[in-house]
Amino acid sequence: MRVLIIGGGLGGLALAAGLRSRDIDVTVYERDTDLAATGGYHITLDPRAQRALTDLLPDVAMRRIRASAALAGRRDADVMWDWRGRQLAVLRGVVHPDAIDIDRITLRLILAEVVGDDLRTGRTCLGIETEDAAVTASFDDGSTATGDILVGADGAHSLVTRRLAGESPSHPTGLVGTSGRTRIDDLSASERGRLGTRSSFAIGPRGTALYAGYLDPAGHAALDDPAESRAVTREPSFIWGAMFPETATTAGWRNLDGARIRDASISLLHKRGWDRRTLELLERTMPESVAVYRFNAAASDPSLLAPWAPGRVTALGDAVHSTPPTAGMGAGIAIRDAEHLMRAVHEILGGRPLPEAIGDYEREMALRGAEAITLAMKTVRQVLSTDSALGSALLRAVVPPMAAFQRLRR
Ligand SMILES: Cc1cc2nc3c(=O)[nH]c(=O)nc-3n(C[C@H](O)[C@H](O)[C@H](O)COP(=O)(O)OP(=O)(O)OC[C@H]3O[C@@H](n4cnc5c(N)ncnc54)[C@H](O)[C@@H]3O)c2cc1C
Repeated sequence: MRVLIIGGGLGGLALAAGLRSRDIDVTVYERDTDLAATGGYHITLDPRAQRALTDLLPDVAMRRIRASAALAGRRDADVMWDWRGRQLAVLRGVVHPDAIDIDRITLRLILAEVVGDDLRTGRTCLGIETEDAAVTASFDDGSTATGDILVGADGAHSLVTRRLAGESPSHPTGLVGTSGRTRIDDLSASERGRLGTRSSFAIGPRGTALYAGYLDPAGHAALDDPAESRAVTREPSFIWGAMFPETATTAGWRNLDGARIRDASISLLHKRGWDRRTLELLERTMPESVAVYRFNAAASDPSLLAPWAPGRVTALGDAVHSTPPTAGMGAGIAIRDAEHLMRAVHEILGGRPLPEAIGDYEREMALRGAEAITLAMKTVRQVLSTDSALGSALLRAVVPPMAAFQRLRR
């Protein structure tokens, strides 16, 4: 049995690590040449995703992940702000206390270490051909590879899923995001005090929102073993994410450098009514960390997610159920897909018919994906609902009494 995986992101590498540890012949083909130079901030893994990783990885890699991650239960309860910096609610129970946050780069490097020389970097898949008993992938360097099963782990805009479904399964949601990393020490004492050691979320007028994720992998380590830590975030930081309706103006941000994206975000939030002090997080950010991206999502109806007949070509993660970051679940469900698919491959080796094992996997994967997309889209819709005169007026009417109530409670 030979498994070809297209895409060495988190899902593809997790699957390869699991197959390799069960002595199944696997090769991952990844278009990036340097995994340490890839984008991304922190990834949240809930207990289900951690259980899947425990099943997929050797103990030493799992130890390394926990030593490099911050435990959610060690930070204060998350809060909801308004756009003027007034507290509206404490969000208890939204994030599981045993969830962990880990740098995307750190997690990817730990997984890649387990996969070792079964990972081929700098190889972009350009096409796949399926025959009765095999599947062949062709690459940009003119080479080909043939296997028994091919897995598309090639993320949003997946070539493999487009080939399976006949079209791209994900579409723009109407929101764009800008993100960056700000060291706590770079904030003023008053803003440090307001934000505290917790994550927060705020919705503002005209389709705007601001997320601030607290990340301290050293001080809040899930496993206190600094020698095993590979965290790239060395100092307590906030990962912020600002959200805007997609317009011709925001489309132009894609051509700007980090400092200009930061300035454009601050200017637009201020124009939309955000208080200057809530924007300090953006003003003091590291410009080289700032990026802009579009929020894409696949359908939230599971029957639309994997509409093809199960066979020797399948897919996982964002390739099928691309999820906006508003639920913090994209990586976790890609890893759970990987664990389920590893079990399916094992069953096929044990004699279970391939279409049956892959069919069961794809049904559950679609349900898992649809659940995450539904949750993430709820927040996207809430943010976009304020992008009208009526929506903004409602927000301005509802929020001040909520803020006053919170002040009284405190
Ligand atoms: C640059 C980037 C930054 C991100 N930052 C965050 C973040 O800060 N927080 C968060 O929660 N989530 C983030 N995500 C999303 C999160 O990583 C994914 O939701 C999650 O990892 C899903 O895993 P996946 O394996 O399905 O897809 P991905 O992790 O996206 O992996 C897909 C991989 O396939 C490769 N690939 C694509 N096409 C081809 C091809 N034709 N041939 C070969 N290789 C190919 C890509 O280079 C990529 O490495 C980010 C994703 C990316 C790509």
